[in-house]
Amino acid sequence: MSDLAIRAGELDAADELAKLREQFVLDAASDHAADAAGVYLDGNSLGALPTAVPAHVADVVAREWGQLRIRSWTESGWWEAPERIGDLIAPLVGAAPGQIVVGDSTSVNVFKAVVGAVRLAGEGRDEILVDEGTFPTDGYIATSAARMTGCTVRPVPMDSLADAVGPRTAAVLINHVDYRSGRLHDLPALTAAVQAAGALVVWDLCHSAGALPVGLDAHGVDLAVGCTYKFLNGGPGAPAYLYVAARHQAAFDSPLPGWNSHVEPFGMRPEFVPVDGARRGRVGTPDILSMAALEAALGVWDGVSVEAVRAKSLALTDFFLECVQAYVPAGRVTVLTPLDHAARGSQVALRCADASAVMEELIRRGVVGDFRAPDVLRFGFTPLYLGFADVERAARVLAEVL
Ligand SMILES: *Cc1c(COP(=O)(O)O)cnc(C)c1O
Repeated sequence: MSDLAIRAGELDAADELAKLREQFVLDAASDHAADAAGVYLDGNSLGALPTAVPAHVADVVAREWGQLRIRSWTESGWWEAPERIGDLIAPLVGAAPGQIVVGDSTSVNVFKAVVGAVRLAGEGRDEILVDEGTFPTDGYIATSAARMTGCTVRPVPMDSLADAVGPRTAAVLINHVDYRSGRLHDLPALTAAVQAAGALVVWDLCHSAGALPVGLDAHGVDLAVGCTYKFLNGGPGAPAYLYVAARHQAAFDSPLPGWNSHVEPFGMRPEFVPVDGARRGRVGTPDILSMAALEAALGVWDGVSVEAVRAKSLALTDFFLECVQAYVPAGRVTVLTPLDHAARGSQVALRCADASAVMEELIRRGVVGDFRAPDVLRFGFTPLYLGFADVERAARVLAEVL
């Protein structure tokens, strides 16, 4: 056994979160055959299945839907699910209850948040800034939101964003962690800079929620969105969420007012009167089966602190980088992810010639990360179910492939 493999064993033995792995469905570990056991490093695209999910979903289908039918909207708590599950996500992103509603996709929530932010910013501001490397859907939606609100959209490099925001800026949309490089942006400082210019900030937490502390309330964030199928393990297509800070809720003017955000949804009145609170972010009928999977998935967080998860995430990515450095032939990969902890999310991105073929071969050997065009190998680290031996094995297989 190599020194690094021995150290991996010691780190796993000392890991307080190691027992959480039992709460997930993963390939069985195999200590003797390096290529036989899978290592799942794609939890930043689709989190693994928590073991509690199948039985809960089966119960919602067979009993709540099958037997109770329409009664479940009240008796099984279906109607309140978007706010109830929002309150389960709230502590993971540093929000007090009553500010997060679950539903729709991230893309749709980006639309609600960006248009909502422009409307909150008021007259005389006609510009939306987006981070230049934004996840494409966020950029597409911001561009359409700009067209609809009489704004122009301006992509700016993150390093000059604080200087770019000005008296004409209505809203700034920023990805907390860059999906490609894994760079973590400075949420407290950028929020303060945007607000000092009189604009509102919308944070996209897709790649940070569930991996690191966000502190939405503590840093006075205006609006935020995020998805739940990455580090929150809610399942494929799990509904996303929208955070509207309590101080903005009364004035939040959703561009998608639906009957679910009406003060009297069953009044069936022709004129729209918005309900107060987080529910104002709803649109139509919630997707109950997906919500059921998400709600059960969030149970793994019982008694788990985000701070502990963050500490382990940094230890895992540090260890992966150390193993890559030790095993991979010099010059074969370039690390894109910042080495500085303060600027690192929970993934490691490596630039590599023929990255697409390399990732294909890694997956064939059971090390599952993903490829991002044109030349990036992306490895996501979910501290809830990954250990240090997994990390060492992944780096070793990567070196063999290269
Ligand atoms: C994953 C991700 C999305 C996904 O959007 P959907 O509408 O849920 O498909 C959007 N934005 C960012 C930054 C993401 O990482």
